[in-house]
Amino acid sequence: MSAWHYVRDYGRRRLMKIGAASALVGLPATAGAVAALPKIALEEHFSLPEFEQRGLVARPARLNPMWADIGRRLVDLGDLRLEAMDAAGIDLSVLSLTLPGIQGEKEQATAVRLARQANDFLAREVQKRPQRYGGFAAVPMQDPLAAADELQRAVKELGFRGALINGQTNGQYLDDARFLPFWERVQELDVPVYLHPGTLPDSPAMFAGRPELAGPIWGWAADTGAHALRLIFGGLFKRFPRLKVILGHMGEGLPFLLWRVDNRYELMVGRPLAEEERPSFFFRRNFVITTAGVCDPHALRASLATLGEGNVMFSVDYPYQESKQAGDFIASAPLADAVRAKVCTANAQRVLHL
Ligand code: ZN
Repeated sequence: MSAWHYVRDYGRRRLMKIGAASALVGLPATAGAVAALPKIALEEHFSLPEFEQRGLVARPARLNPMWADIGRRLVDLGDLRLEAMDAAGIDLSVLSLTLPGIQGEKEQATAVRLARQANDFLAREVQKRPQRYGGFAAVPMQDPLAAADELQRAVKELGFRGALINGQTNGQYLDDARFLPFWERVQELDVPVYLHPGTLPDSPAMFAGRPELAGPIWGWAADTGAHALRLIFGGLFKRFPRLKVILGHMGEGLPFLLWRVDNRYELMVGRPLAEEERPSFFFRRNFVITTAGVCDPHALRASLATLGEGNVMFSVDYPYQESKQAGDFIASAPLADAVRAKVCTANAQRVLHL
């Protein structure tokens, strides 16, 4: 049985389980229910020795014991990862190469070769445990047509569920016209693209002397949020209305800014905007977000209220975030069980065609 068929079959069985679980409406979720609540996780990273040697795996300036543990877990696709998944009740982790990955490679031909190598490696690991792992393809955006071809190969031949891109590539953001052939292929293949933070292309003055701000605390959210807005304002979703882009980290803060984005854009245009002209229209139609790296029930509730029950999906951001903590968070979040089931599995099944 191909990985593709296996995952589809897996999805059907899982749906039946969720149906049974939602019959338990009214029962409060408890810590004990964490492992029993089925989950799919979508922002789960790995690395490869060759990528580490080439400097394509981000490291903080000062290593500490917590970072040593993360490093150990990144290269493990066996017991450590599976134990963490089990502790959080995660049935399926869709894996992706950690940042900057292929996006950090300067040379075009090398990027094409490394993407293929990483995808082939991941496909072998997924085949060993098709019921536990899925794959997002690494794509060499240095060569947009090669990236489209590699995505197609990964989806059609390796059974991957989409692509994950770690931010800008050589200073270019994905709204650039050179990437249109890539996006055209994404829509044809009907798979999502996970837009994940990457390393920043330069050092803006606003972070000068404050290294705390340049990374995941703030800079990555600012960069990735701007990247998402570039796609909207650049008209990508008018051209390709069926694209789905996934943002992690509770939508990189954008769900909380949509009203102001619409309102100030209206002022810039100088007239009232029709519903389908508003940036928020495209955010709600063409984006879905994950809880990766954010275990805040208030942010979760606000995101669900802003985007709808169908547009928020559970994830961990393993190994940078603790799986058990994320599992406890989603099991105890103040949600109706039917909504919890959508966030934990059903939305991912729909978006990834599982
Ligand atoms: Zn991540």
